Amino acid sequence: MNSSEEIISILQEEIESYDTRTQRSETGVVLEIGDGIATVYGLDKAVYGELVEFDTGARGIVLNLERDCVGIVLLGAETGLHEGSVVRRTGRAADVGVGDALIGRTVDALGTPIDGLGPIETTETRPIEHEASGVISREPVNVPLQTGILAIDAMVPIGRGQRELIIGDRQTGKTAIAVDTILNQKGQDVICIYVAIGQKASTIAKLRGTLAQHGAMDYTIIVSSPASDPAPLQYIAPYAGTAMGEYFMSQGKDVLIVYDDLSKHAVAYRTLSLLLHRSPGREAYPGDVFYLHSRLLERSCRLTKEYGGGSMTALPIIETQAGDVSAYIPTNVISITDGQIYLESDLFFSGMRPAVNVGLSVSRVGGAAQTKAIKKTAGTLRIDLARFRELEVFTQFSSDLDAATQQALDHGKRLMEILKQPLYQPKPVNRMVVILYIATGGLLSDVPLDRVRTFTEEFTDAFAAAKPEVMDEIAQTGALSGAAAEVIRTELAAYKEQVSAQWQQ
Ligand code: ATP
Ligand code: MG
Repeated sequence: MNSSEEIISILQEEIESYDTRTQRSETGVVLEIGDGIATVYGLDKAVYGELVEFDTGARGIVLNLERDCVGIVLLGAETGLHEGSVVRRTGRAADVGVGDALIGRTVDALGTPIDGLGPIETTETRPIEHEASGVISREPVNVPLQTGILAIDAMVPIGRGQRELIIGDRQTGKTAIAVDTILNQKGQDVICIYVAIGQKASTIAKLRGTLAQHGAMDYTIIVSSPASDPAPLQYIAPYAGTAMGEYFMSQGKDVLIVYDDLSKHAVAYRTLSLLLHRSPGREAYPGDVFYLHSRLLERSCRLTKEYGGGSMTALPIIETQAGDVSAYIPTNVISITDGQIYLESDLFFSGMRPAVNVGLSVSRVGGAAQTKAIKKTAGTLRIDLARFRELEVFTQFSSDLDAATQQALDHGKRLMEILKQPLYQPKPVNRMVVILYIATGGLLSDVPLDRVRTFTEEFTDAFAAAKPEVMDEIAQTGALSGAAAEVIRTELAAYKEQVSAQWQQ
């Protein structure tokens, strides 16, 4: 055999043994690209949710598996990508860096810092999509997560590990409730994660400013996917935030996560699905839109001691159109969560802020977690308010009312007054207890209505200054003893004596 024949035979052997399948399954070529979606030929072995890399370094997630191509959503810019570009499998699911280094930072949906404070050194990563904890590893919700908002802690209490929906029209104070709750976690050993989806970047910057101003960035992470982000990034942002939370939960810590808001998340997913040519269903959302949110919210729970004892409390936010809670996405999320805080425009504009509609707001599991003293003092609040609302409508046009009706109306009006609360002023438990005790006990009936709020605030200040031991007792035991209640009564009587002279003026 001469050398040329030898070379030919070697080449032939090589060609025969060359296995194209393994090659084709690991890399693919772009057939079509546009709107952040790439259709790729090859990648036969790619799995759903797998991270892939393009030759420009851009990354994407496999979301459609079809007979002879896969649909990939791009997580970055399309620049430089075209028909024929090569795509490589990575063999791992899309993940995000997790760890303590994230605290105090603002990151995008991929965990990359966007606050200009330098790189974030995380040592661990977690997949953004993760199976929720099973039943065995879960513990019932029985530790309160105080929001610091009287109307909520008294009537729709939230427990650690609970999922409570905040729902309402635009500009009804939904974000304000979430922010107040984050502010109230100061010193409570709770790590907060605020996931902003589809909002204006300037709004997020302002929110960060508010949190920083109140010292809340020391324990908060902001995951931001503003409206200018492509739909795929908005789609993965809440999952990325949850993965960060799961890391802390697995360490036995308590986490509070806010998704602001899931309506925009659903819209981002709809955009993505339509671009992937999935068939549209009701309101043009794809058929699996329920699963989109159920698999997200199911990851919030409270773990048993054996599993570390951590918890993740979720406050998803949903924006309704003209108060319509029966639309597709609101009903979905209502059925997934453990209750909802329903905010109403009418209440908001009538000056009742926070605009919580007491009748339609519920907490299905938080009652077991409510602080004893609050439970005791707020006992009749809900029912008194319901009675008040009914009477108010009923007596709208009648002028002479019997004494009992008039009294119920007056009582209701005073209760409504004490539930008003300004922004960024969450109340500690002991303050709530004192206010609730005097308000629900009818001890404010002789205070003029327009002075009720200032009177209760000023009295509570005075009381805290005069009887710090009683305030401490309530804060430490979480209960209101008979003796403490008696002290409140006597102090209140004395205080009224002191200030009532001004009321006549
Ligand atoms: P959007 O639909 O735009 O996200 P939203 O429902 O999140 O709005 P917020 O941004 O929280 O509403 O609040 C709307 C406005 O109402 C803000 O200007 C805020 O300052 C004001 N606001 C909210 N809660 C209160 C409150 N308790 N007291 C006074 N003002 C409030
Ligand atoms: Mg908002």
